[in-house]
Amino acid sequence: MAEAIELLPAGLAAAEAGVRDRRQARPPRHLADLDPAGRRAAVAELGQPEYRADQLSRHYFGRLTDDPAGMTDLPADVRAALGAALLPPLLTAERELECDAGTTRKTLWRAFDGAFVESVLMRYPDRVTMCVSSQAGCGMACPFCATGQAGLTRNLSTAEIVAQVFAGARAMAAGAVPGGPGRVSNVVFMGMGEPLANYRSVLAAVRRITDPAPAGLGISQRSVTVSTVGLVPAIRKLAAEGLSVRLAVSLHAPDDKLRDELVPVNRRWKVAEVLDAAWQYAASTGRRVSIEYAMIRNVNDQAWRADLLASLLAGGLAHVNLIPLNPTPGSRWTASDPAVAAEFLDRIAARGVPVTVRDTRGTEIDGACGQLAAASAPG
Ligand code: SAH
Repeated sequence: MAEAIELLPAGLAAAEAGVRDRRQARPPRHLADLDPAGRRAAVAELGQPEYRADQLSRHYFGRLTDDPAGMTDLPADVRAALGAALLPPLLTAERELECDAGTTRKTLWRAFDGAFVESVLMRYPDRVTMCVSSQAGCGMACPFCATGQAGLTRNLSTAEIVAQVFAGARAMAAGAVPGGPGRVSNVVFMGMGEPLANYRSVLAAVRRITDPAPAGLGISQRSVTVSTVGLVPAIRKLAAEGLSVRLAVSLHAPDDKLRDELVPVNRRWKVAEVLDAAWQYAASTGRRVSIEYAMIRNVNDQAWRADLLASLLAGGLAHVNLIPLNPTPGSRWTASDPAVAAEFLDRIAARGVPVTVRDTRGTEIDGACGQLAAASAPG
């Protein structure tokens, strides 16, 4: 938490400190919070031989089982004790919504303290993407984003983040999603929250998601995208972790005047600083950075802004993702006119900057970009 506060602008830090005071209870500790050494230490504390940690890991990360009753390689009394200590239920599905013939599924989860978070599974012909939340609520206050309006409730724990991917992986393995059994191939941190404001838990979650089974879920680092408003010190720190996850930067405006309004954290870290950090990320990981740009009618979709954006990105290792704004209830903003959006795209492409319009899935279930961006990470 101390780390998160350092990275937040003053007003937001105060808001988060308030949250911290209210937050008496932390989510219960779970196997997925721990790295393999931590798991061995945890079972040893419970008076069990260390190899029990591997048995539990094989069940949870390998076979996607979290019901101790089915872990018949463990003695019955040990099953109950280890289950209670290391596999507590974290998230309960409160509601499930489907669209796209069942291939887009949004889940509303209730956490142990009543906090709500959402995740979305999107099955495409060539991949299955889980869009996960990293916080309950968000402190970044972007005015076009539904999550931003309600403020931050709390950070999710590592295991609460992993649990969202686990649930999707299990649904896929069980053949619960039309198209037959399969695997989750991609994870995007584009649900509720600012992942880099919950740095430690998110980083550990990335490791749990990408470590090969049974240490983790075995999803490729290259298929994981961390999306940020542009918390510069945290981007620089992430660049030094030696990971190959994709970074997405929610830019939404190429000029500070407008970005100060659309992404308030810009008052602390300006467009030039954010892009500098993005270039450092690209240089140290070799990965193209995604520049997210929600197209808002008559707000950020002018031709001159397309030209300015293209000139900032030309020659850089970047890809622009244009997202038709998903209007939030009560918002004065709406999506750009399609012809205007098409010209915006053409102007960027004309400068040789790779640009695509993001496939927005699940608009009908409020699972499209908004609190929950139905994102397809570019290839
Ligand atoms: N806090 C992180 C990740 C969560 S939001 C971030 O801002 O990047 C995921 C993406 O959805 C971001 O690019 C965000 O700006 C975008 N988004 C939020 N509200 C939206 C809306 N109403 N319409 C379109 N995109 C939206």
